[in-house]
Amino acid sequence: MVFGKKQSSPGVPSSGGSVVGATTIEWDPQFKQGNVMWKVPRLIRFGDNIVVREDEIAVFYRDGKVLTYFDQPNRYALTDFNAPIVGGLLKFFTGVQQQAEVYYLQKRFLDGKFGSTQPYQFVDPVFGIVNLRVFGEYRYRVSQPENFINQFVGTFAAETAADVEARLKEQMVILVYNALGKMKSQGLKVTDLAANLTNIEQLVLATSPDHFGQYGVEINKVSGLTISLPDEVQKAIDTRSEMSVLGVNYLQYQAGQAMVDAAKNPSGGAGAAAGVGVGLGAGVGLGYAVGGQFAQGFAQPPMKACPSCGAMIPANSAFCPSCGANLSTAKQQASVVCPKCGTAVQAGTKFCPNCGTQLSQEKKCPNCGESVSPTAKFCPNCGKALTQ
Ligand SMILES: [Zn+2]
Ligand SMILES: [Zn+2]
Ligand SMILES: [Zn+2]
Repeated sequence: MVFGKKQSSPGVPSSGGSVVGATTIEWDPQFKQGNVMWKVPRLIRFGDNIVVREDEIAVFYRDGKVLTYFDQPNRYALTDFNAPIVGGLLKFFTGVQQQAEVYYLQKRFLDGKFGSTQPYQFVDPVFGIVNLRVFGEYRYRVSQPENFINQFVGTFAAETAADVEARLKEQMVILVYNALGKMKSQGLKVTDLAANLTNIEQLVLATSPDHFGQYGVEINKVSGLTISLPDEVQKAIDTRSEMSVLGVNYLQYQAGQAMVDAAKNPSGGAGAAAGVGVGLGAGVGLGYAVGGQFAQGFAQPPMKACPSCGAMIPANSAFCPSCGANLSTAKQQASVVCPKCGTAVQAGTKFCPNCGTQLSQEKKCPNCGESVSPTAKFCPNCGKALTQ
C-alpha cells in the first residue's frame, strides 16, 4: 500500500478539496493554497451540511445557472427551513430535484503569471514582421461569484482551478496584445517597447474591467511585464543603440568590433605584439566592408548611398541593410551635407557621423526650405512659426 499520495486516496478529489464524512462538505485548507476554485466532486443534496469559512464563497449551480451563493462564514445545514439564507436555496430543492453542484471560490486576491503560447506578430516599419512573446504577473480575485460561475466557469467548461488559471492567462495575454495594437496604431515601434513596458502594464490594467468585469473577475495589479524579441532583432536594436551612444557610423562600429574581436582572439601569427594585432584587425575589417560594397555595386545596378552610413545599398530599400537606418523616415526629414566629407547627415545632427566635423546648427524652415538660425522662432523668409 502507498500512503504518500493524498490525491489518490478515496474520497479526496484531485482538484484539491475534501468531503468530510457522509454529509458535511468543506474545502480542506491544505488543498486550498493558491487555488481559486474547487468544484465539489459530487452533487450536494437536501440534508447535507456545507461549511463556509471567512475567505470562501460556496456557489450552488444547477441546469447551467447559479441558484444562489453563501459568502458568510457558517456551517449551513441544508435541512433548516427556518434559516433565511438556506431557506432561499431550499425553495429550489423541490420535487424530485433535491440536488445541485457546488463550487467553492476564494475571496482573497491571488497572484498569477501569464505568458504567450503563440507569438504576437508586430509589424514594424523598420524590422517588418517581428514575433513578440510576452510574460508577466497579475493579481486577481473573484469579484462577482454569480458572473464568475455563469460566464466564466460555465462558458469555458472549467472544472478545476488549473482550468480557470489557464483561461485567465490566455485572457491576460489577449489584453496585452490589445494594448500593443492600440499603442502601435499611435506609432509605437519595436525599438520603443523596452521603454514602454510600464505604460503597457498600465493600459492593460485600465482596460481590464471592460474585459474581465463580465466574467466576475477583478484585476488589481499587472507587473513584471517582459516582451521578448527574436534574437536577430534584439541584436540589431542593441547595435543601433550602441552606435548612437558611441556617435559612430556602421563602418566605424564594425572596425571597433573587429578590434574587440582581435583583442579577444589574438591571431597565432608569429607572436605579433598586441598593438600590431589590433591594427591589423581593424584594417582587415574596414577593407573587407569597403570591398563588399564595391562588389555589390557591380552586381546590382540600381544603388544609392545610405544617408546615415554611406553604404551602397539597393535603391528601393526601405531601410539600410548595413546600419539599419529607416530610409523612409530619412527621406522625409531634411538632411544636410557635411562640408568636409560630403556625407548626407540628418538635419539637427551636431557632428558628422562619418568624419566628426562639427556641423552648422542651422535648420531649415519646414514651410519654405529657407535656412534659418536654430534659435529663430519665426522664419525670416515666409513668417511661419518655427517650433522648438
Ligand atoms: Zn546605412
Ligand atoms: Zn563629414
Ligand atoms: Zn519659411
